[in-house]
Amino acid sequence: MNQDFTDLIAIVTGGASGIGAAIAGRLKSGGARVAVFDLQPDGAPHADLAIAVDVADDASVRAAVERVAAEFGRIDIVVNNAGIGAQGTIEANADDEWHRVFDINVLGMVRVARAALPHLRRSPAAAIVNTSSIAATAGLPERALYSASKGAVAALTRAMAADHLRQGVRVNAVNPGTADTPWIGRLLASAPDPATERAALEARQPHGRLVSADEVAEAVAYLASPNAGSTTGVALAVDGGMQELRLRPA
Ligand code: NAD
Repeated sequence: MNQDFTDLIAIVTGGASGIGAAIAGRLKSGGARVAVFDLQPDGAPHADLAIAVDVADDASVRAAVERVAAEFGRIDIVVNNAGIGAQGTIEANADDEWHRVFDINVLGMVRVARAALPHLRRSPAAAIVNTSSIAATAGLPERALYSASKGAVAALTRAMAADHLRQGVRVNAVNPGTADTPWIGRLLASAPDPATERAALEARQPHGRLVSADEVAEAVAYLASPNAGSTTGVALAVDGGMQELRLRPA
């Protein structure tokens, strides 16, 4: 199905790299004008407007949202995608790291959505899509803090979907499996044997390979599009079957 974003204005956080960059490119190819919010916006591919934003900083978020509204005249789509990782069991991270990850991964999404909602309510095609993760549901080992933050994103998505349904704002999530992005590239580069580590990550996926950023972007494009007009509150897995089929590697 073709998604038509002609005349629509989208914000994509974390849109300068990886999954966010693929989402920005997908929305733009469908006709949207795309504002990328990122800590490092320079060289963001596919951005009609790239703004330096830290989603952990409410003032920076509010200023950026108002700038998009002023420059483009409207806001129709918000893709809350910026996020950071954390490794280890609950004993691995002290309170300040728990606060930092929640501040970015959860409150970051709240801040952007909160600032954009007055504009979204005026759109006939308003949609928010939050990047959660398979970590929200899978019980991944050594990912306690990250999983808790993405579980919070899952609950937040459903709560927001209920709250803003009658205001014409749909809210959905995507749950990617391990995806081939610079994030994972950095993880592999720090491993003693990156090739072996990559093979292990691929083998952990039920379909035997990493998810591509473009596959996640395609799912986001559907959820963000008017074609999904009756879909709200869902978390769409893009993970080779891990979540829905409870598949584990052989
Ligand atoms: P990435 O590191 O390649 O890109 C993340 C982008 O977010 C970067 O451009 C970074 O500058 C930006 N960013 C980070 N903190 C920010 C902040 N405070 N304010 C604004 N921008 C910020 O990562 P990715 O792999 O593309 O991941 C994107 C999203 O997908 C994250 O929410 C991540 O949790 C989620 N995710 C990733 C995977 C994976 O395997 N790569 C799997 C499931 C979910």
